[in-house]
Amino acid sequence: MRTPVVAGNWKMNKTAAEAAAFVDEVSPLIVGSSGREVIIAPTFPALAATVAAARGSNIRVSAQNLHWEASGAYTGEVSAGMLVEIGCTHVIIGHSERRQYFGENDGTVHLKTLAALDAGLTPIVCVGETLEQREAGNTEAVLTEQFTAGVGALQPEQFAELILAYEPVWAIGTGRTATPEIAEAAHREIRALAAECFGETTAGNVRILYGGSVKPSNFTGLLGCPNIDGGLVGGASLDPQSFAALVRA
Ligand code: PEP
Repeated sequence: MRTPVVAGNWKMNKTAAEAAAFVDEVSPLIVGSSGREVIIAPTFPALAATVAAARGSNIRVSAQNLHWEASGAYTGEVSAGMLVEIGCTHVIIGHSERRQYFGENDGTVHLKTLAALDAGLTPIVCVGETLEQREAGNTEAVLTEQFTAGVGALQPEQFAELILAYEPVWAIGTGRTATPEIAEAAHREIRALAAECFGETTAGNVRILYGGSVKPSNFTGLLGCPNIDGGLVGGASLDPQSFAALVRA
């Protein structure tokens, strides 16, 4: 049985004070929502305030990125140990915006995933194809490459600790959600890749989130698919009412 996950990726939005106010507002709205994992990923400067505000609730706090080294001459970067120290439990790795704007690739995804796991953080590893790749019929090849190079060489016990997110780039922030059929086909494919590398049992236990223009109005349909275990949500996670509705879905 895979516990569903609702994870909000706030990207470069909300100050520390706004993040804490969000948690204060959302916590009572999701009090009775047991049986699911709730995660918020604010910006680095808002992490500590979010952790403090979330204390005593079932909200976990994720970073949006990390560096794979523990310390050193890496101006502007933050290590896994630093995130653990301030109370983070998760970290998003390989988001398409990081791949597109900041040179992240499957190699860095691999290094970051290992660093996160070593420090005891749960990586939320993102994969997904661009519109061009989908239209060229390359979705399966792209997912295979990203999966294999990013997480395919982990030890099975390491892989068992992570969460995957299928985020078709054409659906992120566009209002164009993948249909449940399209999303489910990709999730099935990713689970099959996991089974090839790590065996059926491990593959059957890994959570695969869908991300890309998720809203309360389309989330239930996506969650009805057998291989979709929750959502990684950008825009709709910024509003407390809408985030709470996603958690309750
Ligand atoms: C995301 O940033 O991971 C995302 C899925 O964004 P949105 O929900 O806004 O499409």
